[in-house]
Amino acid sequence: MASTEGPRSIEPTGRVLDYTTRFERFLEDRVAPIEAELATKGAGSSAVPTLDHDGRMHPAVQEAREQVRREAGALGFYAPNISAKFGGGGFSRVEMHHVEEFVYRNSGLGLGLAALAWTEGPSPAHEYLSPAIRQQYLDPIVSGQMSTGFANTEPSVGSDFLAMGTHAVKDGSDWILNGTKKWITSAAFSDTFLVTCVTEPGAGTKSLSMFLVDANDPGFRRGVDNPSMMNDGLTGELHFDNIRLPAERCVGEIGSGFALAMSWINWRRLCRGGMCAGWGSWLVDRAIEHAQQRTSGGKPIGELQAVQHLIAQMDLDTYQARATSLVAQAELDQLGPFSIPLEREAPRLISLVKVINDEAFYRVADRAVQVHGAEGLSLGSPEEKLFRVARNLRIPAGTTEIQYNAISRGRLRNKLSG
Ligand SMILES: Cc1cc2nc3c(=O)[nH]c(=O)nc-3n(C[C@H](O)[C@H](O)[C@H](O)COP(=O)(O)OP(=O)(O)OC[C@H]3O[C@@H](n4cnc5c(N)ncnc54)[C@H](O)[C@@H]3O)c2cc1C
Repeated sequence: MASTEGPRSIEPTGRVLDYTTRFERFLEDRVAPIEAELATKGAGSSAVPTLDHDGRMHPAVQEAREQVRREAGALGFYAPNISAKFGGGGFSRVEMHHVEEFVYRNSGLGLGLAALAWTEGPSPAHEYLSPAIRQQYLDPIVSGQMSTGFANTEPSVGSDFLAMGTHAVKDGSDWILNGTKKWITSAAFSDTFLVTCVTEPGAGTKSLSMFLVDANDPGFRRGVDNPSMMNDGLTGELHFDNIRLPAERCVGEIGSGFALAMSWINWRRLCRGGMCAGWGSWLVDRAIEHAQQRTSGGKPIGELQAVQHLIAQMDLDTYQARATSLVAQAELDQLGPFSIPLEREAPRLISLVKVINDEAFYRVADRAVQVHGAEGLSLGSPEEKLFRVARNLRIPAGTTEIQYNAISRGRLRNKLSG
């Protein structure tokens, strides 16, 4: 297929097509055998992992995910989102939409998902790690040899994270970190975390800083698991008790923690486009297949208009949300999707991508369950799992209501400033 590489093009570029062609082979040649081996271990699967006695993802499932991540890193699949100068692929957001859509569409709920940097992988904020620690941390995180996480939310603050309690105090040239984080993805497993904390109380958006914390730092402790309806054993608490951090562990500059946290969060928001398009079209295909096989009154249920309309609604939601993602991300590629400070127009566009995709995908997942009847409600079916995932998506990385705030702020500000 010819590629179109115009400045606002939403088509997959040549390097996206190269990535997806090679990724398809990677799924067959490398991921499928790891999945087959995992199936022999009685540990569940990546979609429905058995949990250990602490409620955490079974270590064998986590090890399989890490193996896929490391192999993907070695073959150049893991970090297309990171700038080429830091060892990543340097892909634009439109290119990333296509990559994410392909990975989600073709991995379904399997281990292939671990091949592409997600919350345990390198983010735009990691590009601000100080030169002194890049070799030790940035290089292995980008190559998938080391994992990471983002620790922002606390027991008493989520949306309102400027009110956080975790703080760092200067001691000579070092910083002493204290606090507790909650609902942190990969809390039990990651090697490092980007931790936001207060360094200048009362300074508003300049009050926070971000530090890289190593799980081997004295004073770092993994806390209890925070089980959710996802039931994946991945989310938990972290405790920081007088962790001494040298100045080079500060990410960016002191006072830039809020902007850096937003760059991480905005990255997660934009990833919703490809993810919901990929999983959405997978669910549409599965619904069509089921509607052709399942019969009622001697005919496939796909011949019933009621079922046809469910499928049409799934299709239109998926198409509409995907189109929004591609158009908005093309616009964001012009603005600089993660620049600090962000262009004025960017937050509204980023929130449009998140809220439109999350809400559309929730309807798609709900209708997918409906088409499958009791099978769709059955524990462990892709429809049942993705319905729970879809419900979850509307809260992390900024709730739906927080996206509405950003969208209306963008519009009202333009109106008020003429
Ligand atoms: C599975 C999972 C994984 C997560 N992973 C991470 C992670 O890796 N790292 C991390 O730091 N956090 C993580 N989180 C936390 C997540 O980011 C927060 O749950 C989210 O930001 C919402 O915060 P909250 O849960 O405290 O809800 P709250 O902020 O308490 O919100 C409660 C309700 O009030 C509404 N509300 C609050 N403030 C406003 C406002 N200003 N305007 C309008 N409505 C408002 C919300 O929309 C919501 O309906 C994770 C959460 C889950 C469930």
